[in-house]
Amino acid sequence: MQTELQQKNNAHHFQPFSDNKTLAEKGPRIITKAEGVYFYDSAGNKFLDGMAGLWCVNIGYGRKELCDAAAEQMRELPYYNLFFQTTTTPATELAAKIASLAPDHMNKVFFTGSGSEANDTNFRMVRRYWDLKGKPDKKIFISRKNAYHGSTVAAASLGGMGYMHEQGDLPIEGIVHIDQPYWFGEGDGLSPEEFGIKAAQSLEAKILEIGEDKIGAFIAEPFQGAGGVIIPPATYWPEIKRILAKYDILFILDEVISGFGRTGEWFAAQTFDLKPDLMTIAKGLSSGYVPIGGVIVSDKVAQVLIEEGGDFNHGFTYSGHPVAAKVALTNINILDEEGIIKQVKAESSPYLQKRWQELADHPIVGEARGLGMVAAIELVRDKVTKERLEPESKGGGVCRDFAINNGLVMRPCGDTMIISPPLVINEKEIDELIEKAKITLDQTAAHYQIG
Ligand code: PMP
Repeated sequence: MQTELQQKNNAHHFQPFSDNKTLAEKGPRIITKAEGVYFYDSAGNKFLDGMAGLWCVNIGYGRKELCDAAAEQMRELPYYNLFFQTTTTPATELAAKIASLAPDHMNKVFFTGSGSEANDTNFRMVRRYWDLKGKPDKKIFISRKNAYHGSTVAAASLGGMGYMHEQGDLPIEGIVHIDQPYWFGEGDGLSPEEFGIKAAQSLEAKILEIGEDKIGAFIAEPFQGAGGVIIPPATYWPEIKRILAKYDILFILDEVISGFGRTGEWFAAQTFDLKPDLMTIAKGLSSGYVPIGGVIVSDKVAQVLIEEGGDFNHGFTYSGHPVAAKVALTNINILDEEGIIKQVKAESSPYLQKRWQELADHPIVGEARGLGMVAAIELVRDKVTKERLEPESKGGGVCRDFAINNGLVMRPCGDTMIISPPLVINEKEIDELIEKAKITLDQTAAHYQIG
């Protein structure tokens, strides 16, 4: 028997990325409160949030300072726009703070309400840039298969997920997709180093096929998040850098997941030594407490769009929303002042990754990989042939259900189980996460009568 709230939900709420019919039959779990790295449901169950919500609650749940910042800002100035030759203190202070943390050559920030809006903004900025440069033919975007860049029309088209393109006749024109650097799934007998070079060279092959004079930009996540925490082999980014240096095309780095500490640096651009022209941010910017995203713009692009561009006919009612900006600024200041990202780099991420590797020995794990505060395991029936647990990647869902029953959120991406916990997770909580993951793997193996 479903509760009154569940019934109300079934009657009126159309939920994102869900089969709403099946969800209504089952009844959604109602999440009621959260603290630190844990959240609770209406039945009183407690969960260790191995996904930091949707990769966003970097600072952990329950930080009163963020609530106070929102309340104070709402009392003082709940809203004003940035269109009428005006700004607000939080929007300006936040832009300056982000610029101080971003790579040196990036000093301007354009605010949006989400990561998707930020990538749609990139789409328009790149095309405007080339128009202003007198090269209106340079309009094609190169992205990667199995990339995730958001759910709006341009962002979903930039993304490389087939199941998203199937709905709404995507991708829109002018976007092409090259191979992803997914060694476990597509390495095909090559060493990781050889495969990294090969995957990167598909960028150069595509540039040569289409013509440099038609390509506007290459967009990529530093590591693919929603695609399954796919961390490129060590040779991949250096080879991409070599190619980007050779051709006159812009480089968009989508840091929506990786930004604000996830890799142990403020940005993965610093971790991988990359020099993007545009950088997409959202999620960890406010630790998910309020919706906000943005684009960090390099001096090279700003010179054209701002110094020479005149009006930029683009923006959102909630661009730089003062309450969101104030909360984001407070969030970043806490990450900074409490040394949370330094702590991730020096202590918690080495510890998480060391313990995560223990899972590699499990009979149904084909690979355990990770970086900073993200990690993945590949579920297999056979470690040598990499045969999966069952067809159509159903094993991931089975494993997820065991994890949830054990009080742990791990997310399935096909046959890959992934985690991205709050950055504040401590050693004791990491131990709990690993123990729960091990029990979950044992139950999944028993379900498939393996081991
Ligand atoms: N880019 C990346 C890399 C993402 O992971 C996401 C969200 N998961 C987005 C963009 C889209 O962000 P939003 O959901 O805030 O629109």
